[in-house]
Amino acid sequence: MRDGGIRGVVVHPCGGDFDRIEINGTEITAGVGAKLKELAYAGKAAGLTGLEWMEGIPGAIGGALRMNAGAMGAQTFENVVRLRYLDANGEAHTKNRDELEVHYRNVPILEQNYAVRAVFRGQAAPAEEIVRKLKASQEKRRSSQPMAKSAGCIFKNPGPCPAGKLIDELGLKHSRVGNARVSEVHGNFIVNDGGATASEMLELIDKIKATARAKRGIELETEVKIVGEPA
Ligand SMILES: Cc1cc2nc3c(=O)[nH]c(=O)nc-3n(C[C@H](O)[C@H](O)[C@H](O)COP(=O)(O)OP(=O)(O)OC[C@H]3O[C@@H](n4cnc5c(N)ncnc54)[C@H](O)[C@@H]3O)c2cc1C
Repeated sequence: MRDGGIRGVVVHPCGGDFDRIEINGTEITAGVGAKLKELAYAGKAAGLTGLEWMEGIPGAIGGALRMNAGAMGAQTFENVVRLRYLDANGEAHTKNRDELEVHYRNVPILEQNYAVRAVFRGQAAPAEEIVRKLKASQEKRRSSQPMAKSAGCIFKNPGPCPAGKLIDELGLKHSRVGNARVSEVHGNFIVNDGGATASEMLELIDKIKATARAKRGIELETEVKIVGEPA
């Protein structure tokens, strides 16, 4: 969010059906206000595997559907069976997974339409297996990502070389603008050392992009969506 905020309506779906998670056999229906972590733990409670990777992502189902969020080699739409959304006229539609165009961190149908809920599928598995996968996911995140405040990964991976590794190789770890700093733990995270502004974050993002372009000829693209107005 730029420092000037958004001049307009911001929709925050929460409460009622938006937060509801329902289990029916191997299918889990979740409203877009429910948290990814809640979906992972609903899977555990129902004895379903395949959703464990969601436990450490601090986002809601709506954003995860729009972004096709992913971690640990998995992504949201590998688990999606059906999507329910509203179009710009408020008409509701349901589409099966195979009717949807889905890309890396982009689900185009949700650019103009608003998701309200989705049905996810897990696979029945022994409790120990699910607990082991949840722990492995937690451990990987704890050991490879900063605990400090951040917006998660800033850039999409530009082909086979992960963005974090590239930023590391470019010698940009620890580079900073004001209180926005490239994390020493993971090059694709910009951490806020306290009171960093959006414009400082954006200046640092531009600096990293310019260095990647000049030294490697790589055009880095942000994974995060940058919205709102400048101060
Ligand atoms: C510490 C940290 C770690 C993270 N780790 C990961 C990770 O491992 N993998 C990953 O993929 N992401 C990660 N993220 C990024 C992000 O949190 C996730 O992608 C998350 O799933 C997005 O959900 P959100 O609630 O933050 O979405 P928001 O920021 O609220 O929304 C993201 C986008 O989706 C749109 N949107 C939201 N709801 C809807 C809806 N109902 N219908 C249509 N469009 C909608 C918004 O307008 C916006 O453009 C991380 C973030 C942080 C801070």
